[in-house]
Amino acid sequence: MGTGIDFQCEHCNYRPSLCVGTGMKFDEENIFQKDLERTILYDLLDDEREYKRFSLAAASGGVLQPDYGYKVYRCEGCGDLHNHFYMQVKLNGQILTPRYTCRQCRILLVKMDDEEVFTQIIHCPLCEEGKLQVEGTYLWD
Ligand SMILES: [Zn+2]
Ligand SMILES: [Zn+2]
Repeated sequence: MGTGIDFQCEHCNYRPSLCVGTGMKFDEENIFQKDLERTILYDLLDDEREYKRFSLAAASGGVLQPDYGYKVYRCEGCGDLHNHFYMQVKLNGQILTPRYTCRQCRILLVKMDDEEVFTQIIHCPLCEEGKLQVEGTYLWD
């Protein structure tokens, strides 16, 4: 199950909606099967290079670790929040995690822990004056 989070800037109209966790369609077999279904993994990673890296890892015997799901990622350039799929794949003693880039700033996004999303002060990327406050949460599956 996942949690949807509605934010609202206390100063302007910016109201991002993000989610953390997984829905039912993301059970392990769906995401990471040996005969990879391109659509799900491709949609999750949203990047041709990352898709190739992870499908190759799967084909080489990589093992999906149990902690996966949507996370909130933050750009340290523009400060905007993004929603991306986090996972860890263990292959030959190494852990691979997907890399996501801010399309505006072209730098790597930083994953936030679920707890940080609720407890850390997040400055609004639009007006840069307000703080984003959690207005409500809901469950999805
Ligand atoms: Zn704002
Ligand atoms: Zn950015």
